[in-house]
Amino acid sequence: MRLLVRPEEEELERVLRRSEMDVTEVLPDVERIFEDVVERGDEALLEYTERFDGVKLEAEDLRVSEDDFEVARELVDERTVEALEEAAHRIEEFHRKTLPRVDRITFDVEGTECGLTLRPIPRVGCYVPGGRAAYPSTALMTVIPARVAGCREVVVCTPPADNDVRASPEVLVAVEIAGADAVYRVGGAQAIAALAAGTETVLRVDKIVGPGNVYVTAAKLLAYSRGLTDVDMPAGPSEVFVIADDSANPDWLARDLIAQAEHDPHAAAVLATDSEEIARAVKERVEELLDAGIEREEIVLKALDRNGWIVVLDSLEECVRLANRYAPEHLQLCVENPEELLQDVENAGAVFVGHLTAVPFGDYATGPNHVLPTGGFARARGALGTWDFVKIIPIQRLREGDVERLAPIVEELAEREGLPNHAEAVRARRS
Ligand code: NAD
Repeated sequence: MRLLVRPEEEELERVLRRSEMDVTEVLPDVERIFEDVVERGDEALLEYTERFDGVKLEAEDLRVSEDDFEVARELVDERTVEALEEAAHRIEEFHRKTLPRVDRITFDVEGTECGLTLRPIPRVGCYVPGGRAAYPSTALMTVIPARVAGCREVVVCTPPADNDVRASPEVLVAVEIAGADAVYRVGGAQAIAALAAGTETVLRVDKIVGPGNVYVTAAKLLAYSRGLTDVDMPAGPSEVFVIADDSANPDWLARDLIAQAEHDPHAAAVLATDSEEIARAVKERVEELLDAGIEREEIVLKALDRNGWIVVLDSLEECVRLANRYAPEHLQLCVENPEELLQDVENAGAVFVGHLTAVPFGDYATGPNHVLPTGGFARARGALGTWDFVKIIPIQRLREGDVERLAPIVEELAEREGLPNHAEAVRARRS
């Protein structure tokens, strides 16, 4: 980790510049896979699964059966099942409490009835990654909000594995707890193409959510740009931005930065503080922990070397300004009065308030979602939530007096835009 004390603007720009998910390099390959799945359906899925995942399946194996779920239960440790159930319960409660519940509201705009109604997106596909590791927590974080929002069909794609249930048993148990309608053993770009276009086995969905590697992300962008399906957000390498003052605990902060770095060699971990003493103490503690030896050391070292920074600024207000420019996926406020800082936070995927609130609590169990925007995308949106699974549909209803009031405006603007038939449709309704 590099320490910057009251840095110049160019140095700050280096801190802000972390890894983004650039899909351009893989796009030609992903396009070929996508086309092939659209044209040949299940047959193409089976070929790519053998090529990229090294697992040979038959068409009837693509969908996980009831028996497989039962076997998965037996394979997973009871303590893991309990932890998943407790996490699921908390995640469900958070998402129920934050569900936008407008069935229908109406109000008048200058005398005309206008309103809104909300409808769940009918069919949703959740991608649960599974290449280098298995992510049962992501199964909870994607399936539960979709179900709480009332989506009619919620299906999951996850890469196959070479074991008795030919998938991650933990992911299967998590999906069963969360309550999806179907799970397909398919990963990568081919899974996204199947969800976007449908195959003999895989249900075509209206929206795809969930994180994944660069192939998954490229395929999601392709699915959207072809108008096949909506997608949630580009979620790339993970990142944390911690703001701390001298009330913070250097050992905890060092562990928080290392925890974030273990996600990915391109992950980012930044500490901004107004206390040079804390900055030096955290740097020293990180080095001590690394010297003593940690698990996943190679990934942590690469991430901290690329995107690990400790920045000392003149005030906490300046730290918040830097955080807003960074727009981090996770923002941690480890200061004496975090509520004060929170008011000035403009851009963050999720905020972790106070010394005790380490990011891993939110990754697994607090309740809010861990699918979050990265690479600065938090400038435009926050975490995945039930709101991603509903559509807001405006309603308008004109009565007699409205026609006379609105027609002159519409006729004038329609004529100016060169759409005279629009004006005629309105004129015909005038008495
Ligand atoms: P993945 O499921 O995203 O990708 C595995 C698939 O990639 C394979 O099934 C294969 O089909 C495809 N693939 C691999 N090599 C390929 C190649 N050369 N050409 C075409 N396709 C290929 O799993 P992963 O790779 O482990 O990545 C998961 C990512 O998701 C990680 O970056 C992880 O950090 C991230 N993640 C993020 C969150 C979050 O909420 N932000 C949660 C969990 C995981």
